[in-house]
Amino acid sequence: MSALPMRFLPDRILRQQAKKIGKIPPNLKKYTDDMIETMHAEQGVGLAANQVGSLQKVAVIQLPEWEEALVLINPEIIRREGEREVEEGCLSIPGYRGMVKRSEKVRARALDLNGKVIRIKAEGLLAQALEHETDHLNGILYIDRLVSRDKLWKVTYTPEGEAEYHQADESISEEASSDESSGSRPTEAINERD
Ligand code: ZN
Repeated sequence: MSALPMRFLPDRILRQQAKKIGKIPPNLKKYTDDMIETMHAEQGVGLAANQVGSLQKVAVIQLPEWEEALVLINPEIIRREGEREVEEGCLSIPGYRGMVKRSEKVRARALDLNGKVIRIKAEGLLAQALEHETDHLNGILYIDRLVSRDKLWKVTYTPEGEAEYHQADESISEEASSDESSGSRPTEAINERD
């Protein structure tokens, strides 16, 4: 296994929609192993393919207490219940945290590497991770789901390791989209607008 190079905002691949995987290619196992390796190296609980430069619709999730990562092919949230506000960050937006709106509970459906259907009922951190990673595959970032624009902070650490929150600079909030459909806009259109 080898860690893959990460993509960071404002890399436009993060705004592109991943393509649904039809027949599962034989090399996908190796690729998702590399994604898992990357997620571990970056100390994340999840990683979507766009974050490592691929537009295959696949993500990996591993909660801190899990021994193994979950590979999710073509994941979809099929039901959302309730609403809550949670603090969130993203490996592709290093140094920032924000307060976002997420569901209390979700139901998700995906395929595993053998092409078998996986159904997941989740709440808490897993529900948050499922929403975060399926969003990535649709070109949506957590900064699009902020409770309000000023609920985004730049985080630095004191020599004692204590987190300090500062108001985020304009440039990063400019990257946020209030329009959910922006994720599916073709890159050309985004470039033109920019
Ligand atoms: Zn992320």
